[in-house]
Amino acid sequence: MTKKGKNRKGFFLFNAVFSLVSYVIRLLFPPKCVICNNMLLKENELCETCLPLWESARRAKCPVCHKTARACICRTFHMTDTDSVGDRSISALGFYKKFGSDDPVDRLVLRLVTAVKTREEKSAIRFCARELSHEILKTFILDGRSTADWRITFPPRSKKRVRKYGFDHGKELCKYISKYTGIRYQQTLTNSAVLSQKHLNSLERKKNADSSYRIRKKTKIEGNYIVVDDIVTTGATINAVASALKSAGAGSVYPVCIAKTKKKKRRLRRPAERPWFTAK
Ligand SMILES: [Zn+2]
Ligand SMILES: [Zn+2]
Repeated sequence: MTKKGKNRKGFFLFNAVFSLVSYVIRLLFPPKCVICNNMLLKENELCETCLPLWESARRAKCPVCHKTARACICRTFHMTDTDSVGDRSISALGFYKKFGSDDPVDRLVLRLVTAVKTREEKSAIRFCARELSHEILKTFILDGRSTADWRITFPPRSKKRVRKYGFDHGKELCKYISKYTGIRYQQTLTNSAVLSQKHLNSLERKKNADSSYRIRKKTKIEGNYIVVDDIVTTGATINAVASALKSAGAGSVYPVCIAKTKKKKRRLRRPAERPWFTAK
């Protein structure tokens, strides 16, 4: 047999073995929907039920400023004209109205957040990191800015919760976003919270967040920061983090999250007129 013939035979053999191994892996570990965790028939990230709902969530417009969640310029409850984030808006992948809502899109968005926070297998984290990376880069490109003097950071989970779930989802999200965007990742904060934000009212949340986040010892804060959080409800956490970073010398703070609360018309606060890049 000629050398060429041998190579071709080797190539076919390699392909056959590769296909067989892939088939066995798929049989042993069938692909599952990133959001609902149901088994998938096709090589996809979302199942046939979740995909159209996720697309609706991504397309949804804010009822107050009529922009999508990435570009919405409205502030949450704790964000006023004088807060630490200042005139910067919060980019999100989608809106949600409230916990316990029976709206299927709301439920899907919250289900994804839960998957990111609790599922040990990191497919939901990678999925959100990819979507967030896309939105972050889009914002920078549209504004004609470079990401060179920006870093990515996150409000860390309390030690108790890290022990309970075995990982800090904020850290994992940041690491993947850094990998996908090339923006540097830096761990900047500590969380000494004893109480979870979930069951507190808005003023208690603010008090709890303000006393929880501190800059890590021997950490140099410089340049601007993209702060990645899972969910922004009242803005208490983002505000506390932005305030800690700015007191330590950070420039701009750009918050991004998976989901943020949707504004209702009757609770309208004046939306920021300037985009988040504008220096104060
Ligand atoms: Zn699904
Ligand atoms: Zn808005």
